[in-house]
Amino acid sequence: MDQIQLLKEIQSVDLEIAKILGREEELLKEIEGLEKDFEDVKKTLTALKGLLDDLKEKQRKVSREVEEGKGRIERDKKRLKEVRSEKEYRALLKEIEGTERKVREGEEEILKVMEEMEGVESQIHEKEKALSDLEGKIMEKRKAYEEEKKGWDRLLEEKKKAREEIARSIRPDVLREYEFIRNRRKGVAVVPIRDGTCSGCNMSVPPQIVLQVRKKEEIVYCPYCRIILSWGESET
Ligand SMILES: [Zn+2]
Repeated sequence: MDQIQLLKEIQSVDLEIAKILGREEELLKEIEGLEKDFEDVKKTLTALKGLLDDLKEKQRKVSREVEEGKGRIERDKKRLKEVRSEKEYRALLKEIEGTERKVREGEEEILKVMEEMEGVESQIHEKEKALSDLEGKIMEKRKAYEEEKKGWDRLLEEKKKAREEIARSIRPDVLREYEFIRNRRKGVAVVPIRDGTCSGCNMSVPPQIVLQVRKKEEIVYCPYCRIILSWGESET
C-alpha cells in the first residue's frame, strides 16, 4: 500500500483518538468548574455565617444596654421623689431624659440589626441550597465520567493497537514527518488536493506538484503551507 494512503489511515485513527481525549478533557473541565463554584459558594457561606454571628453579638450587646438603661431610669425616677433642691431635681430629670433617648436609640438599633439578620439568614439559606445543588451536580458528573471512562479506555486501547498496526508499514522518516506536521497543525498533516488547490491553505498548487501528487509515488508537500498532499477522492 502506498505511503500516502497509510498516512491517511493513521491520521483518521489519530483524529479519533484526539476526539476521545478531547471529550474526556471536556468533562473533566466541567467537573473542575463545578468544584470551583462549590468552593466559592462555600467561602461566601462562611463569610455570611460570620456576619450573622457578629450581628447576634451586636443584638445581645445593645439589648443588655437597653435593659441597663431601663433599670437606671426606674432607679432615677424613685430618686426624683427624694431629691430636695430644685437644682438637683432638674439635673436628675435631664439625666433621665438622656437615658430615655439612649434606650429609644438602642431599641431602634435592635430592630435594624434584626432586619439585617433576617436578610443574612435568607442569603445563608439561598447559598446552602446552591451548595447542595452543586454537590448533586458534581456527583452526577463524576459518575458520568466514571461510566464513560471505561468505554473511552477500551476504545483508546483499540485505536492505539490499530495505530501501531498501520505505523509498522510506514517508513520511519515518513512517520516522523507526519508527526512533526501533525503537532504543528492541530492533528492534521495530510490533506487532499482539490481542483488543483491545497485544502490546507486554499492556495493553487503549481501543475507539476499536482502531477507528482497524482502519481502517488512520493511524499509531496504543499509549497505554501508545507502540509502533506494526497490525491483527492473526487479526482481521478
Ligand atoms: Zn497548502
